[in-house]
Amino acid sequence: MMQSHFQGSDDGPQVVAWELTRRCPLACRHCRASARNTAYEGELTTEECLRVVESLVALGSKPLLILTGGEPLSRADVWTIAKRASGGGLRVVMAPCGISVDDEAVRRMRESGITAISLSVDGATADQHDAFRGVPGSFAANLKAMNCARRAGLPFQINALVSRATLNDLPAIRELALREGASQLDLFFLVPVGRGSGIREFALAAGDCESALEWAVRMNARGPLRIKTTCAPQVIRVRHRLNMPVNGTRPGSPTGGCMAGRGFVFISHTGILQPCGFCDVPAGDLRKAGLDFMAAYKASDVFRQLQDVDGYGGKCGVCEYRAVCGGCRARALAATGDYLAGEPSCSYQPSESRAP
Ligand code: SF4
Ligand code: SF4
Repeated sequence: MMQSHFQGSDDGPQVVAWELTRRCPLACRHCRASARNTAYEGELTTEECLRVVESLVALGSKPLLILTGGEPLSRADVWTIAKRASGGGLRVVMAPCGISVDDEAVRRMRESGITAISLSVDGATADQHDAFRGVPGSFAANLKAMNCARRAGLPFQINALVSRATLNDLPAIRELALREGASQLDLFFLVPVGRGSGIREFALAAGDCESALEWAVRMNARGPLRIKTTCAPQVIRVRHRLNMPVNGTRPGSPTGGCMAGRGFVFISHTGILQPCGFCDVPAGDLRKAGLDFMAAYKASDVFRQLQDVDGYGGKCGVCEYRAVCGGCRARALAATGDYLAGEPSCSYQPSESRAP
């Protein structure tokens, strides 16, 4: 079995994504959270968020903190939270939905210590992107947001959904990312959960997934644009097969394998820990743990299970890549009801046999 580059650690996870709010002005067809432009009950208050930040700052792992949503900019206290986290020594990045990013927002991002943002492009044309995002003008707004970030020297990456609807657009999206000066292109493979479960027919079949990953690995190696893949953990196997170098990854994701619960933790808008945003398995409650992240994290049986890759079921449980890839736990959950089951969108048939 290949050795994993990441695991849960006694010091805490390497990456924490925090859904500060679920409220969002867009209505994306693939939204994992089925987010709406409305107030959500039970969101952590400012005071509670700041106590969570203190507990994150205290972690020995000094995780990368991704402020996300919903639309994180729809919280008025987002700058206070970001400033406290960056002031405490965390690297803070943000995933806004784009339409509220103007010069003033970028100025406040920089002022509060946010070091990079991501902006989405889900189609090579405005029509395609806007149809997917559910709001006319969102493509143009994202291009404007890129302009603001570029002018202010704030690095931005472009996130692009990979689905049957966008597969043929990937070369054009790469060109757009190059033209706009993105720091990297991050390809998000559709995970059919939340509102995305209504468009599961857009998810790539295993064979197409393999081809798309091969394209991404080859284009990344060609440069100059770094191309990363997210939520297609078998990319590590594809890289291995192609004998291609491992690069173009973010801190905390050295291989591209699934980090859910293994170095990565998601915090929901109500303070529930999950393996990732797509894997809707409660793994701890910050409120019940006194808003102490480490107390909730360490008490979690879910994270312990996920860190034991030998306990995985189906083909992932016997695969020689299980430690570095692990298969998508969210897709396994959506397909079978068991987050430890085999990954349904991987075409690989493991050859290794091991004693149960
Ligand atoms: S479980 Fe799936 S969706 Fe979640 S981080 Fe892993 S690969 Fe991505
Ligand atoms: S069988 Fe599972 S662990 Fe093996 S490469 Fe495929 S997804 Fe990854």
